Amino acid sequence: MKFLVTAGPTREPLDPVRFISNRSSGKMGYALAEAALEAGHEVMLISGPVSIAPPRGAVVVRVTTADEMADAVQSAINAGCDVFVMCAAVADFKAREVRPQKIKKSEGLTRIEIVPTRDILATVALPRDHRVIIIGFAAESESIAENAQKKLREKNCDVICANDITRMDTGFDADENELTLYFRDGSQRELQRATKLEVARTIVKICANLAEKR
Ligand code: C5P
Repeated sequence: MKFLVTAGPTREPLDPVRFISNRSSGKMGYALAEAALEAGHEVMLISGPVSIAPPRGAVVVRVTTADEMADAVQSAINAGCDVFVMCAAVADFKAREVRPQKIKKSEGLTRIEIVPTRDILATVALPRDHRVIIIGFAAESESIAENAQKKLREKNCDVICANDITRMDTGFDADENELTLYFRDGSQRELQRATKLEVARTIVKICANLAEKR
């Protein structure tokens, strides 16, 4: 099967040297790419800026901004895939205008006008009669089940993998993860705390099963 995996943060520039971003390390997305390769699938990994090495065998597309990631995802979807895992921590906001020159400290900066980035999962155009299995991630700090179910519907996903971010030892930048998977039929499945690669292997199996049944 063909897996399309996004990973890492995006960076939204303010000027040539400054940007808005987040703490995503890319570890979960890279682990998913590695687990899919291990299971014999083809993998395209669309990655924001991270400091870890991609797994051998993945076709890697490097992007910086949310807009670049959106374009890369759309091209990959157009080219065809069976499973699309949107694991990247896309920056939610970008500067309304990017300053072409470095903003001078002496000039002062009291406000930055920001606008939301495009929601890639919610807006990606899928081919008519598509059979792609779509997986989203959600980092939540409250009403986890409720928010995950809402995202499942609003972002058109087959599965939402939800992280409790109040637990600082799992999730962002950690080597281990603990997730609850929410499915379209209303069912859910807990993935016990394990290394990100072990968690990724389970997610890959679940995705491949869903793709086979579709
Ligand atoms: O709405 P929220 O950001 O919590 O949703 C998280 C999910 O949506 C993740 O799968 C993330 O990759 C995706 N997302 C996206 N484009 C954005 C923001 C989030 O595809 N601009």
